[in-house]
Amino acid sequence: MDVRIIVETIFENGTTKTRRLGRLSRPFRSTQPEGFGLLLEDAKSMLWQLQQAILLDQIEEISEASRVCPDCNKVRAIHDYRPWVLDTLFGRFRVKAPRIRRCACNAKSEVTLSGPLSPLARFFPDRSTPELQRLQAALGARHSFREAARILETFLPCAKQVNTSVRNRLGKAAGESRVFQAFISRA
Ligand SMILES: [Zn+2]
Repeated sequence: MDVRIIVETIFENGTTKTRRLGRLSRPFRSTQPEGFGLLLEDAKSMLWQLQQAILLDQIEEISEASRVCPDCNKVRAIHDYRPWVLDTLFGRFRVKAPRIRRCACNAKSEVTLSGPLSPLARFFPDRSTPELQRLQAALGARHSFREAARILETFLPCAKQVNTSVRNRLGKAAGESRVFQAFISRA
């Protein structure tokens, strides 16, 4: 049999987008015990593609919604797009982060001086997702940095973990936190 994996996104404005993420082939005549179900490498590849589909659609939707001025409801112009690399548990993605011009309705206020708005920068000041950061910190607290990186890369389609990134994350998380202490005592 063949399995097709199709993702459908339904945006809040009612439009939909359908993507074919891939296909798995499981011919029964040549099935081996290792050929049943989803394999780790298939799962990692699917997760990467699924993450990309969700992330890009979400960024598109949030970017569009962010253009509406909260004060006067007019749609603000896109100033430019900045290339971004965003790290997540399920992969590293290149995205286009829009920067939005301030609205003329608050032209005289102080915020005008601070330049265009970047909706993504507000969500990801470190260019990585909080979930990835928490897992790097939690594994880094229990294992050597090399081992923590190996565990992440074995099971997840995340980008290659360099020891320094796990170490930096651990240092940052430890410095930051009661939140971190609470997290590792719970995990
Ligand atoms: Zn406005």
